[in-house]
Amino acid sequence: MKSAFLTLFLLFFLVLSFYTSAQVAYQKMPVEKLEAAYEKYKEPAITHRRFKHADLQPLIQKHGADFNLEELGKSVEGRSITSMKWGQGSTKVMLWSQMHGNESTATMALFDLFNFLEGKNDGYDELRNLLKNQLSLKFIPMINPDGADAFKRRNALDIDLNRDAISQISPEAVILKKARDDFEPEFGFNLHDQQIYYNVVNTPKQATISLLAPAYNYETEINDVRGRAMQTIAGMNELLQELIPGQVGKYDDAFEPRAFGDNIQKWGTSTILIESGGYQGDPEKQYIRKINFMIILNALHQIATRGYEQYTTEQYFAIPDNGFQLMDLIINEMQVKVKGEWYPLDIAIRRRETENAAGYFMSASVEDLGDMQIFFGFETLDATGLQYLEGKVYSTAFESVKDISEEKAIELLRQGFMAVKVKNGEARQVHSLPILVLKSTEKYSSGWMTGSATNFFLAKEGKPRYAIVNGYLIDLENLKNHEIRNRVF
Ligand SMILES: [Zn+2]
Repeated sequence: MKSAFLTLFLLFFLVLSFYTSAQVAYQKMPVEKLEAAYEKYKEPAITHRRFKHADLQPLIQKHGADFNLEELGKSVEGRSITSMKWGQGSTKVMLWSQMHGNESTATMALFDLFNFLEGKNDGYDELRNLLKNQLSLKFIPMINPDGADAFKRRNALDIDLNRDAISQISPEAVILKKARDDFEPEFGFNLHDQQIYYNVVNTPKQATISLLAPAYNYETEINDVRGRAMQTIAGMNELLQELIPGQVGKYDDAFEPRAFGDNIQKWGTSTILIESGGYQGDPEKQYIRKINFMIILNALHQIATRGYEQYTTEQYFAIPDNGFQLMDLIINEMQVKVKGEWYPLDIAIRRRETENAAGYFMSASVEDLGDMQIFFGFETLDATGLQYLEGKVYSTAFESVKDISEEKAIELLRQGFMAVKVKNGEARQVHSLPILVLKSTEKYSSGWMTGSATNFFLAKEGKPRYAIVNGYLIDLENLKNHEIRNRVF
């Protein structure tokens, strides 16, 4: 009798433990399954990262049947800011993107995700129903539409919205804070892009994705709210290491009392920052968009099943820190002459994107020089034995940019000409020639000191061997194709 009672007792616990484990059953989603979902559901209307507010409106509207759309308010310049709600679960998750207007990678992934959430009879219904029954999702895909239209970081008041969480000067900041306060999400995703020059610290690997559970105080303490964000990130990182091994960084967690991520964490929402960086050969960030789709879907799955509880804050801290050590071009041991003496310098060059009504172009300059051994170049040149040489301006003007062939440009470079003139052409016209084109000026800027525009030759006995044209390295003996984005001066 006693043993029968014991058996029953044990059976009871067996059933109870089985039931409990079924409640929290979390199985990692296979990479292939996430990848296939992206390929099936990526939004074909978005093909590059410079889409505008107007481009998104029909895409938002097409989801009106499955999502609850709400206009939350308007930007400084009167553009609508819309939220999209989906799901009827008890765990609330809010995802907001493009608070910085030129940080659009995750926005693209959100539209891919909307298509996915709307699908059916495709092998993903189990996952979709799980998300729908466990989660209530609120998306705000474009917080800063004025910045997005100008493809710049700040809003139309020139305020950085990520420094306006407390002062609430900008209508966009008021909208975001109110959305959080009204919804009171348990989890939040703060979606950004970081500069392509971020790396995994002290490695040449680009930080394609950086993650952060923002601090909620200067002491960077960990409470349950922040701890959950860290655990979720640890799970996201596990997936990322399969996709982009060694290319994930942990963003700096210094507390910024004016930032949204930090404050939303403080207000009780477990907040996860995703920063999309660069990936070689992906200037339009379409591969990084796919990675965003996969890690966001994976994270939602983790939250829906509480699968993040399998991970620890130690695993979060084990993610290596971000560095800022990448350069477009590093030239080592270039000889420069100062007061009759030659000095060997390493110079580090970045080509930064500049926005233009006609598109965008690069503006290269010297970031730093001297001993550059702690930096890593996307391209590196050993210039031992080569000397800095200024170029000349070709005296005969061409009619227009299209009258200059690439062959002609290379021929002129070999003769020591760094720039040509044109009679006609639009101001700031973007072109892809490997030579400077002048329209409204007779001169161009050049130098090797920090901040200088990088337009010069590396020469041997006065003969150009390499041209550095707006920071692009042109090997005059072994021509290679560059994706050049120059502009007319
Ligand atoms: Zn940002």
